[in-house]
Amino acid sequence: MYKRFYNFNLSDETLQALSEMGFESPTPIQEIAIPKAMEGLDIIGQAQTGTGKTAAFGIPIIEKGKRGRRPYALILAPTRELAVQVAQELNRMARNKGLMTVPIYGGQSIDRQIRALKKGVDIVVGTPGRIIDHIKRKTLVLKDVRIVVLDEADEMLNMGFIDDIEQILKQTPNDRQTMLFSATMPQEILRIAKRYMKNPEKVAVDAKDIVVSKIKQVFYEVREEDKIHALTRLLDVEDPSLALVFCHTKREVDAVASKLQQMGYYAGAIHGDYTQAHRDEMMEKFKKGDIEILVATDVAARGLDIPDVSHVVNYSIPQNPDSYVHRVGRTGRAGKSGIAITFVTPREFRQLKLIERSAKTRIKKAKLPTKDEVLEARRQDLMEELRYQIEEGAHESYLSMVDALSEEHSLRDIAAAALSLVSADMDIDEIEEIGAKDAAVSDHYVRLFMTVGRKDGVKVPDIVKSIANAADIPGRKIGRISLHDSFSFVEVPQNLAEKVITAINDSFLNGRKVKVQPAKPRRDKAYSQRASA
Ligand code: ADP
Ligand code: MG
Repeated sequence: MYKRFYNFNLSDETLQALSEMGFESPTPIQEIAIPKAMEGLDIIGQAQTGTGKTAAFGIPIIEKGKRGRRPYALILAPTRELAVQVAQELNRMARNKGLMTVPIYGGQSIDRQIRALKKGVDIVVGTPGRIIDHIKRKTLVLKDVRIVVLDEADEMLNMGFIDDIEQILKQTPNDRQTMLFSATMPQEILRIAKRYMKNPEKVAVDAKDIVVSKIKQVFYEVREEDKIHALTRLLDVEDPSLALVFCHTKREVDAVASKLQQMGYYAGAIHGDYTQAHRDEMMEKFKKGDIEILVATDVAARGLDIPDVSHVVNYSIPQNPDSYVHRVGRTGRAGKSGIAITFVTPREFRQLKLIERSAKTRIKKAKLPTKDEVLEARRQDLMEELRYQIEEGAHESYLSMVDALSEEHSLRDIAAAALSLVSADMDIDEIEEIGAKDAAVSDHYVRLFMTVGRKDGVKVPDIVKSIANAADIPGRKIGRISLHDSFSFVEVPQNLAEKVITAINDSFLNGRKVKVQPAKPRRDKAYSQRASA
């Protein structure tokens, strides 16, 4: 059964444990990384989230270990959740070998960690900050460490752990084996590799194959203020088993989660400001399906192994292509299919194109469900519940009431009246408009012509900033901007156009005097549709 793991010359204990975990054959990254790691080579591994990197370094570590007192292997990870998850996976893989792995992270009592370390630990999985604490207190000695792993190295760099990592590496013996795993390979990572690794072997699995094959990727064009209703329409119609919703900021995470809760969805939130206990609780609930929608920041969700996420929603567009690949990789795991949804505001089209190019993927435009479709989905849902009630016999105590009423009314009327009582949300007028709200005043955009362009060294953010400042309007109210060599077009809400023109006309942008006037109308269908949507 575990024929292909068998080829790696693993011990019976480990093969047995892998089989108990349901691992039948190695994933692509495991297939190439495990033999090299077993040889003791330094490795730089690149593969997308969810491709089994933990076992790729974990299996060789376990095979090389004996129960002892001081750690022989050290794994650094960016977040506490990830440290806990990696430690759990190693403990499962090593359970027949009797090796002890402990997670060490900030936020947990340091005394408890000190006691665990004193008892004797074979493998430590830790976040850099807390590992440094223990080194300083001399409660963690790294003299016997023979293997070091930097897991999710790019994320550790993003979080500013670079100095900590270098400091930790210096505490470990020079002749150690070093493995670095990362979903992306920015320049800084290659620099660390050069400095701290010996002729590292690169092992990579193409991200593109994984993203494209099983994950359906779509985007919806949505204005900022319509996002929440766009999200609920999609939730109603697509009925995800588990959805992971990504926002840029912690505040936005809280806002979206609480709005969803108010509207009756089973939603929860995680981000870095919550206590460890709260985050653990959320993860548990999400895994069990007690909450169906988890709203998160990139960092909080990074590297977490959440099975069966059917939908990933980029509520805010990822700030870079790597982040897109990471987020989307949270669905379609272990051969399952998944759907990745991205909300794009008019100004973010460039960003979308950039993501498509760099992630070598295609994100198709899709249309939001109409109110009728939402209603139909809700009806189907309710009918499904009714069938279930009847099958379970849960309705029986109400039968006598129906009998009594049937003297006066038809069964059809009685049933429909009962339904109207339980479901207030079958009224199409209760479904929020998208795009039409306040259309007359703020959502109607006009195009302005400006006499500065690329040749003047002007960039899109410069224009946004100057308009926002001069006319004192929020940057997000500014629509699409198209930059040409010596001029540009800017969309602004119609009711603010006069204000913008007065404020910007004859002012200076990058040292150039600017003239602004309403642009001549044009016959671009896509544009006029959107502007009046
Ligand atoms: P990554 O670190 O690349 O994001 P993980 O190591 O967290 O991925 O693995 C993702 C999931 O796949 C985990 O639930 C893990 O237990 C499972 N997994 C890993 N390797 C295999 C395998 N060979 N067969 C089946 N499942 C696997
Ligand atoms: Mg991982």
